[in-house]
Amino acid sequence: MKSSYYKLILGFYIIGLILIWGISFAIFKLEPAYPGTIWKITMLATLLLALACIAMGIYTHKKILVPISRMLKSPSKLEPETDIKVSSDDLGEVVTELQLKLKDANNEKLQKDTILKHMTDGIISFDMDGYVTYINPAAMTMLELTDKDDRFEKIFFKYDNKDINMEKMIYLENWTSTERKIENNQGSMNLFFIPFKDEINRPTGVLVVVQDITEHVKLDNMRKEFIADVSHELKTPLTSILGYSETILDGGVDDVETEKLFTQKIYDAGERMQKLVQDLLELSRYDTSNRPVNVKEFDLVELCKNCVDNFEYARSQKKQDLECIVTANIPKVKANEDDIGKVVSNIISNAIKYTTEQGKIYVYVGYVHNYAYVKVKDNGIGIPKEDLDKIFDRFYRVDKARARDMGGTGLGLAIAKEIIERNGGSISVESEYMKGSEFTIRIPVGK
Ligand code: ADP
Repeated sequence: MKSSYYKLILGFYIIGLILIWGISFAIFKLEPAYPGTIWKITMLATLLLALACIAMGIYTHKKILVPISRMLKSPSKLEPETDIKVSSDDLGEVVTELQLKLKDANNEKLQKDTILKHMTDGIISFDMDGYVTYINPAAMTMLELTDKDDRFEKIFFKYDNKDINMEKMIYLENWTSTERKIENNQGSMNLFFIPFKDEINRPTGVLVVVQDITEHVKLDNMRKEFIADVSHELKTPLTSILGYSETILDGGVDDVETEKLFTQKIYDAGERMQKLVQDLLELSRYDTSNRPVNVKEFDLVELCKNCVDNFEYARSQKKQDLECIVTANIPKVKANEDDIGKVVSNIISNAIKYTTEQGKIYVYVGYVHNYAYVKVKDNGIGIPKEDLDKIFDRFYRVDKARARDMGGTGLGLAIAKEIIERNGGSISVESEYMKGSEFTIRIPVGK
């Protein structure tokens, strides 16, 4: 832009020269009597023309060219009224408009940068040589990158996936986006590779969108595990039912005693299946609605005492001590009474189940920091340390065969946790293997 402006001034100077010298020559031809005077005037006019062109050059350089080139170099720093002062009205208007347009473009760019910077999805763009041209912080974290990872190969090489190849994506996949899955220390990621193209459809680079699908994969695995567990749990009693009934039907049983035993086995297996289905239905009920209904204030001490009384028969069978001890003055708690009754019963039932004969089980009821608590402490078989954090998972049992023989489904504590949490409370466990366990539930008190 600058050079064409200077050429224009030079052109103006040359035309001026031609005019001055042409006119002088014509005057000399008409009036050759004063050659000295004509010569002096011509030289003076030439000098004045040169000075005028220099002044014009300096003026336009300072007032127009320098600000414009400054504006083109760093549009973000410009303020339309302060940075450029152009006295020519037309030119000033053009410059101001240009400047406003640049500011708009700049604002738009800043807005896009902010969006990309705060997106939870990762974004990386590569040029045709495979160099990173833009990367947002989410992509840096999700792909565990440092500033040194500035090339396509460097970033994706470690995933050892031959399908992640820039050339292949641009040229072979015919402009469609490509999806790939990777795993790293951050979890599972879905990568979408989208080729860029210019207005004449030439490839100019690749955009990569990174999505964290760890939770999704986890849920999917949980769902698969759950289906496998349910099938497995149903398979065992079903096999018993079919086996025993087939033997009876084939006439393989000829004495009444054996027939009675087999029928009992079929009944037990049926009962197990019924319990499992009931537990599953209960869980699915909590999964679909997690707000408790019928929340009201009630006396927790009375509820715990009733629960303890209900286990009198089971306790006496194993000659265990089962006692309810109230440790404080407890205000009424606010929750669904049936729900809390179910949880307390489940924990007491487990304590009886997993404590040997003549063991001791204490149910403490107390109050601390706005929460009433029920602590069920036994001196039973305890839970190994490594199993403690899985104890509330669906179908988790420390000793699968043993728990199943005792009629457990492995869903009791999972249901208890769901119930307590939807009632605004919490459940925790402390245990020492072969020494005993302590389950504590906390329930919010009413006003
Ligand atoms: P289950 O129906 O098998 O009892 P739960 O969900 O109630 O299922 O309990 C899960 C597992 O936790 C049990 O299989 C058992 O291994 C362990 N467990 C629960 N309560 C106790 C306890 N008081 N003492 C020792 N182990 C326990």
